Amino acid sequence: MDYVSTRGAAPALDFENATLAGLAADGGLYVPAAWPTLSREAIAALAGLSYVDTAVAVLAPFVGTTLPREELRALCQAAYGRFAHAAVTPLVQLDGQHWVLELFHGPTLAFKDVALQLIGLLFERFLTSRDTHLTVIGATSGDTGSAAIDALAGRAKVDLFMLHPQGRVSEVQRRQMTTVLAPNIHNIAIDGSFDDAQALVKAMFADADFAGRFSLSAVNSINWARLAAQVVYYFYAAVRLGAPERPVAFAVPTGNFGDVFAGYVAARMGLPVAKLIVATNVNDILHRALSAGDYSVGTVTPTVAPSMDIQVSSNFERLLFDLHGRDGPALAAAMRGFEATRTLALSPAMRAEAAGLFASARIDAEDMALAMRWACEESGMLLDPHTAIGLAAARAAALPADVPVVTLATAHPAKFPDAVERATGRRPALPPRVGDLFDRAERYDTLPAEIKAVEAYIAERATARA
Ligand SMILES: *Cc1c(COP(=O)(O)O)cnc(C)c1O
Repeated sequence: MDYVSTRGAAPALDFENATLAGLAADGGLYVPAAWPTLSREAIAALAGLSYVDTAVAVLAPFVGTTLPREELRALCQAAYGRFAHAAVTPLVQLDGQHWVLELFHGPTLAFKDVALQLIGLLFERFLTSRDTHLTVIGATSGDTGSAAIDALAGRAKVDLFMLHPQGRVSEVQRRQMTTVLAPNIHNIAIDGSFDDAQALVKAMFADADFAGRFSLSAVNSINWARLAAQVVYYFYAAVRLGAPERPVAFAVPTGNFGDVFAGYVAARMGLPVAKLIVATNVNDILHRALSAGDYSVGTVTPTVAPSMDIQVSSNFERLLFDLHGRDGPALAAAMRGFEATRTLALSPAMRAEAAGLFASARIDAEDMALAMRWACEESGMLLDPHTAIGLAAARAAALPADVPVVTLATAHPAKFPDAVERATGRRPALPPRVGDLFDRAERYDTLPAEIKAVEAYIAERATARA
């Protein structure tokens, strides 16, 4: 399986090199050169398989010949063996039509563990056969940082430098990062906002000399392997609800368009998906794009669902690539226009094509709280704010009663205890496996939001030397 850039000007890579590269050299994102498909019989044969065996069947076409099947299986076993639930991503019924797919049983209590636990092992595996080290850098507003840190802690040949905005992540989120004391993990609190931290990371990638010298890489959701790992749970959930005989709909709380794009990939692979419901909060660029063709950047409004407080959704470019007939140069021109004007209009034909699979909704704070209360009263379930936005959109979509609708539960409610308590009157407890978080020692350094200071810090500590 070859991977091509959405902007058509970077060389095609195999799975291994696309995973290690993250972003393509022409500024585009890697996608498979053609969508692999699973036949109806192959999908039917997934019924009753464990999560690990489902992962091997779904990932094998993406991995191609870069890993023998037995080795892929061992990596999946190691990654998903760390989840606290035997089903890895259990499916819980809310009422006659609505289901919740719990994706938060990993080590850091958010769905990002599902992909990053596997990525950590893939990085280590691919790097052992090379004599180079990688320096992974990233900026986080909360969930990505802890998931990446847990996944890469102690891994050979990779150092991780994670920037978070000083004082602007929750105490649970900060401690989930700073209590990991492995020598290859470096937490940096930036004296500034998340945007400052993100701008520093972009500037370091743009500093070609620095990026080359320290072999910089990224594990944010533009990394193709992350999306591939997320395709698995769409198949896993759908076959449990009757696919391929019965189509299933999914409602997905969306920020960077990564998780819901994985659902699109599942549909392209042949999974009968009745609808993909894109749920946004008041930061609604994706809802405007899908419902009115208006992909234009507004200002970010902070909400109680911070992982969806995003205006530019990087992975939307992957859908735009298909909507442009997979014409890289045409999309590159469209993206240049978007970067210059901060706005991009979808043609009526593109909107019609997207509407065949996607629906969308913008959920405000009040409807989010109503969905939390409904789930609590209906079935005693506590939902985190992101999941509640997904469920509100799922119910608003009003699909025919015989279509099961699965809402992806992207975070454990205990990650956002204040918002949950305000809406339901119940305070979710941290699960026992992270219960001693507040007793563990922390380690991090604080730096000014200045590229020279951050580069000097990394240069002193990174193992990689090109
Ligand atoms: C990252 C995140 C999201 C958004 O996922 P995308 O793939 O960026 O769309 C939603 N909910 C939670 C809890 C997250 O951590």
